[in-house]
Amino acid sequence: MVVILLGPPGVGKGTQGVRLAEAIGARHVATGDLLRAARRDGTELGRKAQGFMDRGELVPDQLIVDLVSEVLGQLDQKSGAVLDGFPRTVVQAEALEGALADVKRRVDLVVVLEAADEVLVKRMAGRRSCGQCGSVYNVHFSPPKRESVCDKCGSALTQRKDDDPATVRHRLEVYRKETAPLISHYGKSASPLRRIDADRPVDEVQKALQESVRA
Ligand code: ADP
Ligand code: AMP
Repeated sequence: MVVILLGPPGVGKGTQGVRLAEAIGARHVATGDLLRAARRDGTELGRKAQGFMDRGELVPDQLIVDLVSEVLGQLDQKSGAVLDGFPRTVVQAEALEGALADVKRRVDLVVVLEAADEVLVKRMAGRRSCGQCGSVYNVHFSPPKRESVCDKCGSALTQRKDDDPATVRHRLEVYRKETAPLISHYGKSASPLRRIDADRPVDEVQKALQESVRA
């Protein structure tokens, strides 16, 4: 099954995507995580993406399409993928459809996670991530046991540079302008589209998500 998690920054795509992928035995493909890994590794892609990410802008479509095409090319008839943060533009959505058609697959479900801007702003302000294992916490809603230390691997937690208030405002504008049009794009497509209220505890959102997948 190929599932797209669509929704604004901070709505919980990563939090839910990791769990959903585990529950349905699919691969979790998060372009933001792949780009941050490329930056940490100092690859050419990482260097090219850095400025766009720090400014809260989208990385150019071609870089993203190249990044995910390898992953998508590995999908066979049975394997599943939970796409988190991709596609983010209509150009990326069309590239995805083409790449899936090449392996005789299609987008099986699009889920839109929704929450009000004030919820997203608070979530992003409180987000802390482990640079080592990628675990994500929130100082308001899901704090680590020891302040600034990852429960899972003991490494230091850091705040994302693009989670500062001004960049968050810009990312929300970019979402509305460039990514939200995908909702009507998929609304007109053959892939089913479901909307989920993500302003609820993590477990409740996950339950609704798994129900959508199994419907
Ligand atoms: P996204 O991948 O959509 O940007 P994340 O999954 O990283 O969002 O979540 C953003 C922040 O909000 C993280 O700090 C996460 O721990 C927290 N969070 C995610 N879902 C919820 C929820 N349902 N309730 C409270 N906090 C949440
Ligand atoms: P995320 O971790 O999903 O919040 O993404 C962090 C940043 O990575 C975004 O603000 C963009 O700069 C970049 N990014 C991630 N995914 C994409 C994508 N599909 N298209 C363009 N830019 C992306």
